[in-house]
Amino acid sequence: MAFTQISPRRWERVVEFRLEFDDLKIPGAGSTFPCDADGNVDVASLPEAALENYARCMRGEGVGPAYITDLSRDVRVDADKRCDRCGGESYFGRSCGVDICGSCGRHEGLARCFCGWSLSGRNGRQELEELGEVIDDD
Ligand SMILES: [Zn+2]
Ligand SMILES: [Zn+2]
Repeated sequence: MAFTQISPRRWERVVEFRLEFDDLKIPGAGSTFPCDADGNVDVASLPEAALENYARCMRGEGVGPAYITDLSRDVRVDADKRCDRCGGESYFGRSCGVDICGSCGRHEGLARCFCGWSLSGRNGRQELEELGEVIDDD
């Protein structure tokens, strides 16, 4: 295999909770702060303005009781692959139909390709023609 798969395409769990307070005067408005599953806000990471707001909310000034919203979700992460030859990152080449190294152009599982790339450094398209492959020009 020309490429080492660092990690397969997968689903990753993003854990995210928010501590929320509804504004008592403005319907639909309120304040939210990132927190853990138990509603603990990492106060040290809050910017100063948010910190003041948080302190006001915790005192219950103009806001309803605190509640925790679970925003955790699964996100799809594409497979990361690296070229064995140069260590470059690969991408999927749509017109070639295989994974291609972004640095050296290596095609996964191929020796040559209609796009002109070849492992030998020659013209892959010409090589294919020499091998008797039929190439449709469109
Ligand atoms: Zn190609
Ligand atoms: Zn490469």
